[in-house]
Amino acid sequence: MNIVILSRNPHLYSTKRLVEEAKERGHSVEVIDPLKCDIIIEKEKPTIYYRDRYLDYVDAIIPRIGASITFYGCAVVRQFEMMGAFSIVSSGSILRSRDKLKSLQLLSKAGVGMPKTVFTNYSRDAKEVLAHVGGAPVIIKLLEGTQGLGVVLAETKNAAESVLEAFNGLEARVIVQEFISEAKGADLRALVVDGQVVGAMKRQGKEGEFRSNLHRGGSADIIKLSDDEIRLAMESARALKLPVCGVDMLQSSRGPLLLEVNSTPGLEGIEGATGKNIAKSIISFIERNKK
Ligand code: ADP
Repeated sequence: MNIVILSRNPHLYSTKRLVEEAKERGHSVEVIDPLKCDIIIEKEKPTIYYRDRYLDYVDAIIPRIGASITFYGCAVVRQFEMMGAFSIVSSGSILRSRDKLKSLQLLSKAGVGMPKTVFTNYSRDAKEVLAHVGGAPVIIKLLEGTQGLGVVLAETKNAAESVLEAFNGLEARVIVQEFISEAKGADLRALVVDGQVVGAMKRQGKEGEFRSNLHRGGSADIIKLSDDEIRLAMESARALKLPVCGVDMLQSSRGPLLLEVNSTPGLEGIEGATGKNIAKSIISFIERNKK
């Protein structure tokens, strides 16, 4: 099979591992920078031009589209779909997952448990906003944040009100969320491939840090998920139509609660913590779907 990995950087751990496993299983594989692809649109003949050739021989693609190149990256994925290539996640699902608010709305409708969350149009009535989620302490999150940047824990009503005021003043869109203190600065990441959980880790924030992001100095360990946690991960993946994704959740006194679903999950942390060959699972998922 001809497999293309859409990635800006062939030296990233995840990209290298996917190349390695695809070769190991006898496929021909190349890493292509989506930003260097030209999308050619014409009646019944959609195609992509890259460097000096047309990419009209591709059987399957693995999109590794970073948040900053969502628009163009997804257009390239869509073009491959038009050309009949199999994509492990569709362009529509990647786009949907990048909108945190829309994703939470869809997930709540699908019956997935999550911290109570409120979103307003820059409401000036901070008291009321806080009351919706049970008052301080609360978590305030920038809608556009990643890797834990733009996530604030406001421990008192006064702190929460001034943070909200500051974000409102900057016209930065935020969600306000109930703070799950029982999580104790840890969260769970379940890696889903073909709709099934294939590995899971617990990430613990460094001392005194409520955010468990590895980019913020957190550490990761293998964990065996409970049945409820497995169910939540699979339901979230299904609701957002992402057969391959990373599902982040918090352990609370009322069971697992969804934080977010990542359509381009990194493989380094999870393969390191679990010792599992997740890249191989992804390649065999492609083999099962594209004959
Ligand atoms: P990002 O997408 O920037 O990583 P997250 O929503 O995943 O933002 O939040 C970053 C970290 O902050 C999470 O991994 C978790 O440890 C912590 N966190 C986020 N929301 C809550 C919450 N409602 N209650 C407790 N901790 C939270």
